[in-house]
Amino acid sequence: MSDQLIYSGKAKDVFATDNESELLMVYKDQATAFNGERKEQIPGKGKLNCQISSYIFDYLIKNGITTHLVKNVSDHEQLVLKTELIPVEVVLRNKIAGSFARKFGLDEGKNLQKPIIEFYYKSDELDDPFINDNQIESLNIATEAELTYIKEQTLKINQLLIKLFSQDDLDLVDFKLEFGRVDGKIILIDEFSPDNCRLWDSQSHQSLDKDVFRKNQADLVETYTKVLNRLEGAK
Ligand code: UDP
Repeated sequence: MSDQLIYSGKAKDVFATDNESELLMVYKDQATAFNGERKEQIPGKGKLNCQISSYIFDYLIKNGITTHLVKNVSDHEQLVLKTELIPVEVVLRNKIAGSFARKFGLDEGKNLQKPIIEFYYKSDELDDPFINDNQIESLNIATEAELTYIKEQTLKINQLLIKLFSQDDLDLVDFKLEFGRVDGKIILIDEFSPDNCRLWDSQSHQSLDKDVFRKNQADLVETYTKVLNRLEGAK
């Protein structure tokens, strides 16, 4: 395999491969918070996120969602389809938490009447500003039809994941997805791990996600291991 680094992100590096239509995604042991202001090396984190994300993507694929995942090539590396990234972070919220609670001066924890979808423009320089549907369309980031499809897919993924996590006594509070284009089709890309979602224990409401790192509440590796063990049914 060729080892040309084509992108280095906060949590993953992406390399070209000998196959033009595939990339190698390598999960890093790096944790960041507050748009990269806080950065720490946490041995074992990359492997855990790769395993959790693989488990979730496999489940979504089995349930009819098209994703970029081709296969895992090691415990911290995945072969994925090369797509044209749509530079939008798609956030879905089931409960009030995080920036939504801060923005509207609300306590965390209440269920929202129905899931909310928000878009953020992917730009570290601009600190990922909020962007609405009209802005996305007029900046030619995605078409109206593409946005409709992205929202439908996000709601479908939410229903599937609420079901999956509830079997493990976990409440899916909110999460962030990314999408890419390949052969004219929009597919789910990136990862799904406790780095980009909020998961609360259904009984204790304790966080089992990156908030433990953001708020210095608990050990990240121990927390993510609990999530993986619950998913794999070894509670
Ligand atoms: N999120 C993410 N990447 C970001 C921003 C948010 O993965 O750059 C995830 C975050 O982990 C949470 C959800 O999106 O699960 C909603 O995040 P929120 O807007 O509440 O922001 P935060 O409180 O995390 O700053």
